[in-house]
Amino acid sequence: MELEKIILDIQKKHFPELEGLDICLKPKGHMSHAMEVSAFFPKIFFDESWVNKFDKVEIKATVVHELCHLVQFRKMSLFQKVVLYIKVEFLKDLKCLSHLEKEADRMVIGKGYGRQIAKARRRAWKIASKESLKRRRQIYYSPEELEKLIKQMK
Ligand SMILES: [Zn+2]
Repeated sequence: MELEKIILDIQKKHFPELEGLDICLKPKGHMSHAMEVSAFFPKIFFDESWVNKFDKVEIKATVVHELCHLVQFRKMSLFQKVVLYIKVEFLKDLKCLSHLEKEADRMVIGKGYGRQIAKARRRAWKIASKESLKRRRQIYYSPEELEKLIKQMK
C-alpha cells in the first residue's frame, strides 16, 4: 500500500531513532483528522477520507509528525504514558495535549519538514468544521505560527 511505503521511506531516511521499529498501519473511520498514533503501540491509524484530501507533500509531512509522536512515546515510561492517556482521553487536558503537539511540530521542523507541515496544517484547517477548528486552535500551532518558528529555528 502507498501510505505504508511512504511511512517506511520516511522512517528509514529521517528517523534513525526508530530504526527497526515495526510500525503497524491501521485504517480507522470517522476520525477528526487524517492520522493518529497509539501511545502504547507503534501503530498509526489513518482515515482514508481525510488522507484522500491531502496531496503527497501534506501526507508526508503528516507522517513525519506522527513518527515524531512515536519518538516522544518511546522516551516515556509506561507509567508516564498511562498518566498522559488519562489526562488527554478522560480529563480532556488540552494544555497537556497542546504541549505534546507543539513539541512534535518543533521536532518536525527540526527534521526539515517545516514548510511541508505548515502546508498540511493550512489544508487541514481549511477542511475542518468550525467546531473542530476552534479546538485545533487551542492545541496546535497555526500555519502562521509554524512559519514564524521555521524562521526562528533556522
Ligand atoms: Zn499530533
